[in-house]
Parts: sequence; structure tokens; C-alpha cells
Amino acid sequence: MNCYDCHQQRTTTPATASCHNCGAGLCPDHIKLTATEIHRHEGMGLSTLKHPARRLTCFTCHDAEHQL
Ligand SMILES: [Zn+2]
Ligand SMILES: [Zn+2]
Repeated sequence: MNCYDCHQQRTTTPATASCHNCGAGLCPDHIKLTATEIHRHEGMGLSTLKHPARRLTCFTCHDAEHQL
């Protein structure tokens, strides 16, 4: 698989990951890495786990998810 964003710019770069949201292939230049905190219900309360999860998305999906 090749990077989709590079493909749109008429270049070919091997993809090293794929977008969590849309599944597009991404090269390191086009990956947006987000650390997501995992919340878990425990007993009466809500606890945040110590280690955040990793989430890789393309720039398009990252912008789409963070627009307000
Ligand atoms: Zn790329
Ligand atoms: Zn995407």
C-alpha cells in the first residue's frame, strides 16, 4: 500500500501505517499521532488508565474530528 496523501500530490511513498478512521495508507509525513486516554468504569467511579492508547489518523480525519 502507498500513502494516499502522497498519491494525491502525484508522488508515490510506501505507507507505514493506515488511518484509524478512513483506512487510507499513510507515510510518516502524513500521519497524525494522537494519544487517547482510556477511561474505564470501576465500581462507583471513572478511572483513567495510566497509559494512553495510540491512535494514528490522516490529517484530514484529524482536522475533521477537531473542528468546532
Ligand atoms: Zn505521504
Ligand atoms: Zn483518515
